[in-house]
Amino acid sequence: MKNPSASASVPPSARPSPPSAPVPRELNLGRAARLLGRGLLRRCPNCGSRGLFRRWVVMAPSCPGCHLKTDRGEDDYFIGSFVVNFVTAELLICAGALAGILLTWPDVPWTALKWSLIGVMIPIPVLFYPWAKTLWLAVDLTFRPVTLKDLDGHGENEVRVPPGTVLDTPGLTAPSARA
Ligand SMILES: [Zn+2]
Repeated sequence: MKNPSASASVPPSARPSPPSAPVPRELNLGRAARLLGRGLLRRCPNCGSRGLFRRWVVMAPSCPGCHLKTDRGEDDYFIGSFVVNFVTAELLICAGALAGILLTWPDVPWTALKWSLIGVMIPIPVLFYPWAKTLWLAVDLTFRPVTLKDLDGHGENEVRVPPGTVLDTPGLTAPSARA
């Protein structure tokens, strides 16, 4: 049995530091910031490429740079970006209402405030929707890193990932590089 007083007498600086466990990549703040930063620029969070959108709210099926499927192969993937868009629009409208009240207090023009907020309530979700899409993809990639099944054209008979491509998962490279 260890003598607790023996370890207590050793100054903290002289004690051997325990081996540090590797930080899971999902908790790497630098990686998360990089993914979110690319999402804020409406670029592919995975590789930073442009060209994710065919029209303002219509995404290409996959990234032209890394072939990441923009819906990650899931039919209900849009729900995540819908929630991001909805919450952001609500927060912006609440912030606008609060600012309007604080700036004009105590003579708040309630009717003008109401109609002006209704006026911005309609276009904000449409204008913000592309960012909601790329930000949701960034958030999702933060916690669920890319796997081979996320890459377009990466079925059993077709491999379009350039040889040697290092995917966003430790130890995972395109199979064509191994051949
Ligand atoms: Zn990409």
